[in-house]
Amino acid sequence: MNTITAYKCKQCGLVMYPHHFRCLKCHAREFEEITPSEKGKLLTYTIVEQLPWGIDERGRVLGVVEFDNGVKALGVLHVENPKMGMKLKAGWDCVRVIGGEEVYGLTFQAA
Ligand SMILES: [Zn+2]
Repeated sequence: MNTITAYKCKQCGLVMYPHHFRCLKCHAREFEEITPSEKGKLLTYTIVEQLPWGIDERGRVLGVVEFDNGVKALGVLHVENPKMGMKLKAGWDCVRVIGGEEVYGLTFQAA
């Protein structure tokens, strides 16, 4: 499993995952790297019925997970019956295919 790295803006403290060239909030360019622990809990989730092109699924569950160190990240849930507060472990998988290329992203499974 790849290590997950999140980026914390040195100016305003916004934690971003994945990396952006500039902070989404204050446009600063300096970040501190944070490694979220691999386990977290589900804060909220949503089922997306209308998916962008390149995602070959009928409906997809997106969840916001809070890692043990407080970093929050959005990822794809591979869980049959998601419940708020449930424990999840993070992974890194292909989540989308664009122009024949696999795009990897954060995924979560029941811990
Ligand atoms: Zn910032």
